[in-house]
Amino acid sequence: MIGRPKLAAATCALIVAVWGLLAAWIVTLVLYAITKAALLGQLIPALLGGFVFLALVGFLLSIFVYCPHCGRHLFIRSVGERSISRARLRRVDSWASAVVEVLAHEACYCVYCARKVEVPWR
Ligand SMILES: [Zn+2]
Repeated sequence: MIGRPKLAAATCALIVAVWGLLAAWIVTLVLYAITKAALLGQLIPALLGGFVFLALVGFLLSIFVYCPHCGRHLFIRSVGERSISRARLRRVDSWASAVVEVLAHEACYCVYCARKVEVPWR
């Protein structure tokens, strides 16, 4: 079981909010390109600013979430590094799926050691 389940879950929720802001920013950009509505033009920098700010906070929180088995970061993956055993798990293949798994099932698989990590946040 993870050491700080509430912090891990809050981090996951924040990361999902970041994804939502990014999606909203992209949709707003497209709608603005089509309609040229002034309100949409004003929303674009606000959504981008919110995305950058929350992404930074989410990254900072992710630094404090460790795998209890191997001690590596659960939601931060080094570029090019991948667990051999984890590659066998078809269901989860990235830190992003770990984020979703934590929120949906209160557990995820470590990006590095591929072991199951219980995150009882409810
Ligand atoms: Zn691990």
